[in-house]
Amino acid sequence: MDCYLKEVEGKRLHDRPVDSVMQTRRLACSLWIPDPIIVGAGASGLATAACLRRQGVPSLILERAPCTAALWRTKAYDRLRLHLPKHFCELPLLSFPDHFPTYPTKDQFLAYLDDYANQFGLRPVFNRTVTGAKFDRSLQAWTVKTLSSKGDDEVEYITKWLIVASGENAEEFVPKFDGMSEFGGKIIHTSSYKSGEMFKGKNVLIVGCGNSGMEVCLDLYNYGAQASIVVRDSVHVLPQEMLGRSTFGLSMWLLKWLSIKLVDQFLLLMSLFTLGDTAKYGFVRPKLGPLQLKNMTGKTPVLDVGTLSKIRSGDIKVYRGIKKFTHGAVEFVDGKVESFDAIIFATGYKSNVPSWLKDTDMFCEDGFPRKPFPEGWKGKSGLYAVGFTRRGLLGASIDARRVAEDIGKQWKAENKHVEVRSTYGQREG
Ligand SMILES: Cc1cc2nc3c(=O)[nH]c(=O)nc-3n(C[C@H](O)[C@H](O)[C@H](O)COP(=O)(O)OP(=O)(O)OC[C@H]3O[C@@H](n4cnc5c(N)ncnc54)[C@H](O)[C@@H]3O)c2cc1C
Repeated sequence: MDCYLKEVEGKRLHDRPVDSVMQTRRLACSLWIPDPIIVGAGASGLATAACLRRQGVPSLILERAPCTAALWRTKAYDRLRLHLPKHFCELPLLSFPDHFPTYPTKDQFLAYLDDYANQFGLRPVFNRTVTGAKFDRSLQAWTVKTLSSKGDDEVEYITKWLIVASGENAEEFVPKFDGMSEFGGKIIHTSSYKSGEMFKGKNVLIVGCGNSGMEVCLDLYNYGAQASIVVRDSVHVLPQEMLGRSTFGLSMWLLKWLSIKLVDQFLLLMSLFTLGDTAKYGFVRPKLGPLQLKNMTGKTPVLDVGTLSKIRSGDIKVYRGIKKFTHGAVEFVDGKVESFDAIIFATGYKSNVPSWLKDTDMFCEDGFPRKPFPEGWKGKSGLYAVGFTRRGLLGASIDARRVAEDIGKQWKAENKHVEVRSTYGQREG
């Protein structure tokens, strides 16, 4: 039985006074929760719970993993740092510590999130996967079915407010290729990659040239592997910094005065000076500029951390696209056949929302809200989404504040006299 249920039985409901527990009715194996339910204890879920707290609204966070921020804690490689400067990645109400570098390491980011959860007294229910959720018209509430990680304990929660914060990156995506089962060597997704140490001296192919693929490629090279990368589609590679400032920060600043088209032209000119013509090395640029493309499709430009210079020097090879796998080798679309010891898929993730959230038109088939940013955070009948903006932690923070304000108004209007004990720190952003 999870800690939340233990607390219900022990007449305490996540830091709320004993008498408020009376509002919690056990309906056979169902629990009526008077507070909003948040699915996912990643950065988005934590930020939403903290903002709700600030509005005087308690919440219940359900998390399938045994920890917060499972993506960063268990599925990220060792050398990962925030790709964007820290002030673009901080969550509402708490800044990163001053002594953190501009691009905090994975461990520093996790320490910040742990501190965040502590300061706001956030205690998610771990090992509890949401397997189904739908709006019950007769109850005028959301029924949320959950299963313990061992699969032996099913609990249904009922709530007026359901906040989807299960992430854009909930499930690994690996494309299928002919002959994959015959390959015989190691095939992994970047979510299982920690460092290049175990690939020393090996011939490794990375499939996918986003930020993760490019960085893993460099890591493999640094550990003495022969790394190659597949670049199938057009992609914008930009330097991580320009004119002594982060490319992202500089773009945001320029957008205050210039049109997106002009800022794109500036970014492309600067990239040409710094990186040269990337098409020469296999990285053909899309027709739309990097910011326009991001706005229209959500496709993120690659911020180069040094991989391109290794490609230019010929230390890392580039291939155009995979045709099929054979035993110990890969045949490419241009007919070349090369032997590899291992394949690492840096092909990203997908949302899992369609697999469990039913009877709503708020989300599309791809698991993202139908309405584009900045409108995607609110659905009907008390349904909300946080962290599906394709704008990283900055987008998640914007969503979290909006959702909390909206629910806070309803909470106050309902005049619930529930006192939330202030267990969190005094700092405010
Ligand atoms: C390698 C990498 C680097 C990145 N770097 C940056 C960066 O520098 N800056 C930036 O702004 N963004 C970055 N991002 C974007 C990233 O999406 C955010 O950093 C952040 O993890 C988003 O938080 P989230 O809470 O929305 O999603 P997640 O961190 O994915 O959290 C969602 C949580 O929901 C849980 N969950 C999912 N399904 C269920 C279910 N059915 N039931 C219960 N729980 C469930 C998951 O276990 C997870 O803990 C990066 C992403 C990756 C993959």
